[in-house]
Amino acid sequence: MPELPEVETIKNELPPYIVGHRITSVTLLWDGVVRQPSVEEFYSRLIGQRITEVARRGKYLILGLTSNEVLIIHLKMSGSLLLKPASAEPDKYIRAILHLDKETELHFRDPRKLGAMWLVEDKNAIVGKLGPEPLEADFTPEVLAQRLNNRTAPIKALLCDQAFIAGIGNMYADEALFAARIHPLRLGKSLSQDEVERLHSAIRKTLWSAIGYKGASVDTYFRPGGELGIAHFQFQVAHYLSGKLCPVCGTPIQRIPIRNRGSYFCPKCQRGPS
Ligand SMILES: [Zn+2]
Repeated sequence: MPELPEVETIKNELPPYIVGHRITSVTLLWDGVVRQPSVEEFYSRLIGQRITEVARRGKYLILGLTSNEVLIIHLKMSGSLLLKPASAEPDKYIRAILHLDKETELHFRDPRKLGAMWLVEDKNAIVGKLGPEPLEADFTPEVLAQRLNNRTAPIKALLCDQAFIAGIGNMYADEALFAARIHPLRLGKSLSQDEVERLHSAIRKTLWSAIGYKGASVDTYFRPGGELGIAHFQFQVAHYLSGKLCPVCGTPIQRIPIRNRGSYFCPKCQRGPS
């Protein structure tokens, strides 16, 4: 569930508490959270490292280490990273704890156990195949148009495809398509130049707005200090149950499954494929 705005919020809020700090020990409460390397190597290579920076690529959080390795974290559907005082009692959903110097702990909380961590030398082994970052200056309407060229998948599925564009998931794809007045089942290649420009602008506005509200605390997303993000209070269509009314025209919001995910849209404001 955490998408780009949620991970960006974590990236923005963690550094004062962890950058420059040394990892004094590691507790794994569920070994499955470590995807690479082995659990034994994870302990031995991580302990003693100092955290040098916190970065984000797509929905991945990337912690730089003094060894020049990186600890990459993906929160998947239900993960959060929580700052806690030393020796805080972990709740039953905590899967890993990084114990830091200066009496701080970083708890990886993940009720659904889908989240993952990788400790690697080259971050591109994990994030190298991601598509462009939608908020970077080099993601232009022309780049979006090029990537849509000849694509026969529904635009909703493309926006959620991390190799097509990084960081967007179900919530913000629905919001961006509503803002751009584009039906989620329109084929990528069918968008006009005007629609591509509207979509490009809508993606950026939607993501920037959500970052401003510190992400959306639907389900189990928390900010590192335990606070909630409030971006979901701005949602126009995402996560509505069918029957809610379009805030623009009053038509009931519809839900259709696309690639096994519920897509919410206004059938009047977002014209269907012709
Ligand atoms: Zn409408």
